[in-house]
Amino acid sequence: MKYTQAFEGLSVSRLGMGAMRLPVQENQEGKPLDFEAAREIIRRCIEGGINYFDTAYIYHGGHSETFLAKALAEYPRDSYFLADKFNLQANPDFRAQFAQQLERLNTDYIDFYLLHGIQDSWEEPMLQSGCIEYFREMKAQGKIRHFGFSFHGSPDSLRRLLAAGPWDFVQIQLNYMDWLFEDAKELYEILDQAGIPILVMEPLRGGRLASLNPQTAEKLLAAQPGKSLASWGMRWLMRLPRVAVVLSGMSNPDQAQDNIATFSEGKPLSEEESALLMQACQEYRASVAAACTGCRYCTDDCPMGLDIPRILNIYNAIKLDSEWRASLLYSLPEGKRPDSCICCGACTGHCPQSFDIPAYMAELAEIMKRVKP
Ligand code: SF4
Ligand code: SF4
Repeated sequence: MKYTQAFEGLSVSRLGMGAMRLPVQENQEGKPLDFEAAREIIRRCIEGGINYFDTAYIYHGGHSETFLAKALAEYPRDSYFLADKFNLQANPDFRAQFAQQLERLNTDYIDFYLLHGIQDSWEEPMLQSGCIEYFREMKAQGKIRHFGFSFHGSPDSLRRLLAAGPWDFVQIQLNYMDWLFEDAKELYEILDQAGIPILVMEPLRGGRLASLNPQTAEKLLAAQPGKSLASWGMRWLMRLPRVAVVLSGMSNPDQAQDNIATFSEGKPLSEEESALLMQACQEYRASVAAACTGCRYCTDDCPMGLDIPRILNIYNAIKLDSEWRASLLYSLPEGKRPDSCICCGACTGHCPQSFDIPAYMAELAEIMKRVKP
């Protein structure tokens, strides 16, 4: 296992175990955690040299924290680092939530403590809640050792939050697809310039980059037999020097084994390998999403005034993440959503990509019947 020295005086494993997708008992009501199966993953992680364990107040309905406390009880407290997160939506009473977390974790300090998943709309409520001052006080008392936040918002929001620092670290969603097609590169550069250690979440975009589409997957697997698609994604991240720890929500021992092998070897992708991966990423995206360039040639003649590129952007988010992203369609004004398309075809002739735009609109209208705001 490779370790980072990004945190003074500490040697933290470059691979962290995320306890948010632990195995559950599928056939039992409420799908409780499968304690023994989950503990086996923790054992593999410890044996593989992982010493960073990440949980949150809301993971597995709060049972992730209590599980970790039990599973790690057989190891000395100073042999591993615990990360936990404050969730404003789940319980705005930050004092009560923090006390409950210490109790659930059966510890009197948390090594890495984060404000959980800040998006633009939660930035202000979080900043105004008084929780930041309180957690800084907890840090001064030694109950928090490092204080940061996990982030899902825009670059502008990140800049504003950094101004409310100091922060010991920031956790962002970072993977090669978000680097190419979303804001991840800009977020990375902002944090890099600020000199703040980065913790990575969703390194494989919720697992999607561990499978890809068959043709693209075949190319990568043929280029490096024996290396999993997951390892391609992880080794790409190793190219980024500001990345301190990469979290992986491991849900079975095989995933743990594969990740541990990757981070034990610790070999970043070469320039050439990285270029091949970027090409594969483009191919994969084109196979599942509409590669709309945003030229807007299609919009002028739409009798319904639909913002077609914006809608196709949401279509891509649905295809590359999951259907819950369809909730974004409800942020469009009524009458401007895909279900208002009258299938007139006035847009299609203008599209240089020859997209069958009415077909996309019809597909989205169907998805809207299943996904409500
Ligand atoms: S087919 Fe739909 S999206 Fe295209 S111009 Fe007609 S109403 Fe607008
Ligand atoms: S014309 Fe085609 S590529 Fe251009 S914005 Fe419209 S859908 Fe996208």
